[in-house]
Amino acid sequence: MAFWRRLARRASGEWGLVLLSLLAAVAVVLSAGHVALVALLWLVFIAALLRRPKEVKDETHVIADSPEEALDLDALGAGFDALDMPILVVGADEAVLFQNQAAEKAFGVIPPLTDLSARVRSPGILDMVRETIATGRVNQIEHSERLPSELVYVVRVARTVIDAAGRTTVYVISYRDISQARRIDRMRSDFVANASHELRTPLASLRGFIETLQGPARNDPKAQERFLGIMLEQATRMSRLVDDLLSLSRLELKAHIAPADEIDLVPLISHVCDALGPLARDLDVAITVSPPPGPVIVQGDRDELIEVFENLVENACKYGQEGKRVEITLSGGGSDPAEVSVRDHGPGIPAEHVPRITERFYRVNVEASRSKKGTGLGLAIVKHILTRHRARLIVRSTLGEGTVFTVRF
Ligand code: ADP
Repeated sequence: MAFWRRLARRASGEWGLVLLSLLAAVAVVLSAGHVALVALLWLVFIAALLRRPKEVKDETHVIADSPEEALDLDALGAGFDALDMPILVVGADEAVLFQNQAAEKAFGVIPPLTDLSARVRSPGILDMVRETIATGRVNQIEHSERLPSELVYVVRVARTVIDAAGRTTVYVISYRDISQARRIDRMRSDFVANASHELRTPLASLRGFIETLQGPARNDPKAQERFLGIMLEQATRMSRLVDDLLSLSRLELKAHIAPADEIDLVPLISHVCDALGPLARDLDVAITVSPPPGPVIVQGDRDELIEVFENLVENACKYGQEGKRVEITLSGGGSDPAEVSVRDHGPGIPAEHVPRITERFYRVNVEASRSKKGTGLGLAIVKHILTRHRARLIVRSTLGEGTVFTVRF
């Protein structure tokens, strides 16, 4: 039945034409004297008329005129409002009949019956909607917007019949936001490219030295000793990088589990200073600690917190070496939020780099970092650990005066 109803509806706009053709056919047949055939044609015509919908209207206007059909659109709208993706419903004449709340938020209010092309500027989307209106086929395209921020949508259009009588055909345009997935994809591929690049450099150097040892330096014990020393350095660099990568992936696995142990930061910081004592002495940097009188207790994971402060104090010694002093201040505890600041008196970090220094493999100066045995992952690890600890990293730097990294729990 539904099929016949749809057929009758589709044909309804063309009945004028059919009637004229039939009359012409009758005139021709009559003149030829085929009475039986005339009677049959009339029967077919009358049967078709009986099947014809009572009101013949433009499909898009049926919605506004009949209360039951308006109800259908309301029901459809209530359903679409529950979705968090923008949805536009248009008629066969490309007039916007409905927009859900998410579409209102994304594109602003579109007055009913506005022509789609007045609000949707993308020729790709308009062509796609027109094709679906013409053919009834579901279509989708990817559409990106640059302003106010970069957004990528999969825009899909599908035809649907919304009233019980099967008379109202509308076209539903949905916008699926895939920006976040795209960003993650890009980050992942950047990360793999960076990690491979970082590993490729020491690997190439190891290969080069192995070939030299097998060839020209085969009988040169002095060169062999020197090359083996460099090879050990490169292999150590690779294992540092792999350790940092593993550390990051372990942290990612438990990112949502908050640590529960009670840790006093005062002895923990003094442990970090002891561990970094030899490095500070080599670099000729003096580390001083100013603890409060009592303990500074936080909820945390001891090993991870040691990793955070080792990274910050090591960076302060390495990159702030020329300031010759690194000062660690602890405060808070009890009801006040705990805070640890690591201050160096080095060259500082130019303001444009500060927001990015916690990104993986981001370095202000790649050569300086490599020469100081950096992997470019230290602050990314710090940021991950602090996120898990519900703590923040605040960076303040003044060129020529130094940098303060503050951890606020
Ligand atoms: P790396 O392994 O290169 O040290 P990090 O993630 O620890 O990587 O640090 C990223 C970059 O931030 C470093 O390469 C360096 O350029 C900059 N940086 C970090 N700490 C300091 C600091 N105290 N003073 C100046 N620059 C710093």
